[in-house]
Amino acid sequence: MHRRALRVAGGLAAGIALLRIGTSVFGGDDLPVALPLVVSTAYEERSDTLQSSETLSHLFARHNIVGSELLQLLEAAEPIDPRRVRAGQVFAFRYVLNEPVPERVTVRLGSEQILRLKRDVDVGWLGESQPIYWTVNTEIAWGQIRSSLYETVEGLVPDDVLPPAERARLTWDLADGVFGWVVDFTRDNYPGDAFEIAYERLTSDLGDVRFGRILAAKVETRGVENSAYVMTDDRGFNAYYSAEGHSLRRAFKLYPAEFRRISSGFSRNRYHPILKQSRPHLGVDYSAASGTPIMATGDGTVTRASRWGGYGLVVVIRHPKGIQTRYAHMRSLASGIHAGTRVRQSQVIGYVGMSGLANAPHLHYEFLKNGRHVDPRTAVRFGEGDPVPKARRAEFDSLKIQYDRLLAPPAAPTIAAGLD
Ligand SMILES: [Zn+2]
Repeated sequence: MHRRALRVAGGLAAGIALLRIGTSVFGGDDLPVALPLVVSTAYEERSDTLQSSETLSHLFARHNIVGSELLQLLEAAEPIDPRRVRAGQVFAFRYVLNEPVPERVTVRLGSEQILRLKRDVDVGWLGESQPIYWTVNTEIAWGQIRSSLYETVEGLVPDDVLPPAERARLTWDLADGVFGWVVDFTRDNYPGDAFEIAYERLTSDLGDVRFGRILAAKVETRGVENSAYVMTDDRGFNAYYSAEGHSLRRAFKLYPAEFRRISSGFSRNRYHPILKQSRPHLGVDYSAASGTPIMATGDGTVTRASRWGGYGLVVVIRHPKGIQTRYAHMRSLASGIHAGTRVRQSQVIGYVGMSGLANAPHLHYEFLKNGRHVDPRTAVRFGEGDPVPKARRAEFDSLKIQYDRLLAPPAAPTIAAGLD
């Protein structure tokens, strides 16, 4: 908020400089010299936060806005829904120095709008909502996979580029939104594999920073390169395609829960803690907190949603081409889920628990093809997704060239200079 104070002072200095131009024009060749910029302390900015169990009236009273003036301010602040205003909401108050009552109050209405309330000497308080403007920049991160995807992204994207919460959104988008059908980030990454990603970073005129979307990415998994290039589809959604121009979407998602909710998948053959014997494990177990939403990995029809021996509360889904998926040890079913329900990919069907033979909350997931168990992590990603629509193939090819140029690791400066 110092910026505002500077702008005011700058305005004053410019005014004085203009006067000097006016007088010196007659003086001859000498160009006027602006007066040194004096930082004025004409204004003081104070921010205040609405506390829990407070109303807007309490907050404004702290700033000496009371009585009829308060009523007028609340009326001007009409875009703020008093029932939706929450503890923690920050208000910025601007005071003319040594004045007891602020002359301006600013508050955000979500990420797209800001409300400015101004006190006019004659009219009183007036409110005006204004859009927050966001600027889009492209950022590149490239390096090598570390022990986990989180650690990798954290190492490549510093806090001053994206704050931690926005960096986490980038990580989830990469794992679920871009590669959720083809790369298993709980298992496939090997330290040292190459990793390149181009993404949009948004900055607002108020100085906030947000993650936008992933434009392109290349992720090696044990030496195999997986590429993704974004193209906006006819409905305005981001669709990701491989280098060959095939959609990365498949009939099945790799994980039956959001990537951010699962901590790991674990081994196929292990000692059963309750049966006290080692036996082949016919599915994949995902560690997740009790209550974590479980999602259908593909479109299909529920054939069972009930208790079934060691599975506990289990949902079984029949999919096309002889495929069946099972989700066991649930705590509860999602509403409307019963035998006969048709479900879509990523629809929530129940919640993680530890019913049946389980000694801790986790999700046990099985994938059967023609009645035989197969490893879902390898079974689902073969084959190819839908190709880029023919009419947009040329557009895709030129986008891909641009994205590849963005993703190319920077050349050594000497070589770049020689090539130019
Ligand atoms: Zn299991």
